[in-house]
Amino acid sequence: MALKALDIYKLLPKKNCKECGDPTCLTFAMKLAGGKADVDLCPYLDDQSKSVLGATTRPPIRLIKIGVGERSFAVGEEFVLYRHDKTFYHPPGILFKVSDTQEPEEITATTIRVRDESFTRIGTELRFNGIAIENASGSPDAFARAVTTVEESADLPLVLISKNTDAFNAALIQVGSYQPLIHAATKQNFREMCALAKKHSCPLVIKAHGLDDLAGLAKDCVTEGVKKLVMDISPQSPGDFITISTAIRQLVITRQSPDLGYPVFLDATHPHLQDAAIALGIVKYASVIITPPLSPASAKAALTLRQNIYTDPQKPIQMNPGLYRVGTPGKDAPVLLTVNFSLTFFTLEGYLESTRIPCFMLIVDTEGLSVLTAVAAGKLNETLVRDSIRKFDVEHEVSHKTLIIPGYSAPLSGRIEEATGWNVMVGPRDAAEIGEYLHEQWKNHES
Ligand code: SF4
Repeated sequence: MALKALDIYKLLPKKNCKECGDPTCLTFAMKLAGGKADVDLCPYLDDQSKSVLGATTRPPIRLIKIGVGERSFAVGEEFVLYRHDKTFYHPPGILFKVSDTQEPEEITATTIRVRDESFTRIGTELRFNGIAIENASGSPDAFARAVTTVEESADLPLVLISKNTDAFNAALIQVGSYQPLIHAATKQNFREMCALAKKHSCPLVIKAHGLDDLAGLAKDCVTEGVKKLVMDISPQSPGDFITISTAIRQLVITRQSPDLGYPVFLDATHPHLQDAAIALGIVKYASVIITPPLSPASAKAALTLRQNIYTDPQKPIQMNPGLYRVGTPGKDAPVLLTVNFSLTFFTLEGYLESTRIPCFMLIVDTEGLSVLTAVAAGKLNETLVRDSIRKFDVEHEVSHKTLIIPGYSAPLSGRIEEATGWNVMVGPRDAAEIGEYLHEQWKNHES
């Protein structure tokens, strides 16, 4: 069980010496309780207290970084079983798989796709994370060649998959310093694989079926000096994956099985069930997912699902307040006011673009609330509108003083006119009707 801050405080030395970076032992205890500090930061803890606190205050799932540089990603360090309990922090890395039996041109094409492809959704750029290279040939030379082909095309995180330690040696000479994830240590080969992982500072996948075998293998690797582990639970089917990965998450979150506290790996190359396997992996606790290159439709679905699951449910996705342009608006362009809830912004922006009428969008800070909620909560009010017009210098951008407000904020129209001195037009409630509204009401208003 996790300890509360006061229980932790009782175990601290109470010197208030600040050497941990916190002003008092109590503030350090509070950070430890929230999983936001490491027990090793206090130099005065005796071994017994350190071991008790370490077991109860470290994040239940270890944070593992894969790759180096701009595209590297971290997985693990999750604290809850259900997203609505708090949030999930580290989205799974999804990597496209290639084989060293493929032609170099094919490998290069997949690598370049992962390097360059991105989708923008609700203002966020969504991308795949890297390349998994499989030593299907069994040949060290072919593996090294495939790895070099990928490495020459892009600086991406890698997963190296082989059953042959000679092949790993050949490949890691090329890319060991990029800290690829290497797959996999088993009960039979873990000493050799741990030696490789230590030599190149690489994270290591351990592979076993059954929770006891996984926990035992993890302990063996830690004893060998390798702590950066990811677990391949060797599922027989997507359903089997969910059963095992959910059991692991429950056991580690409740700290019943700290030896299983590592991110989980999923090979989603299941014939006919690839899309389903990826979706289940994203939802149910996979942290590294490898898949053959996806069709454009499946790619967008996977990235969208991942984005949805890994946004904080307690924080609406927000835009920065400001004056945004749609097209190239002139001095006579309409100014439309709305809130900084991202979904509202992008929905309205899409409809405005399709009207082909250049305009300004004045986005005000309602802390990410939608129009209706912001009006009801008093977050959208005449003072905010007045201050936003001033702050974003709207009067210098246009030669008129007419503001179109959302239909759901109609009750505020009089107060906004009084506070701002602007003429207020009430727009439609449904953003889909904004084109018709601008073509009819705005054009009539101009003439
Ligand atoms: S270093 Fe240890 S003793 Fe000093 S303030 Fe921090 S927790 Fe307290």
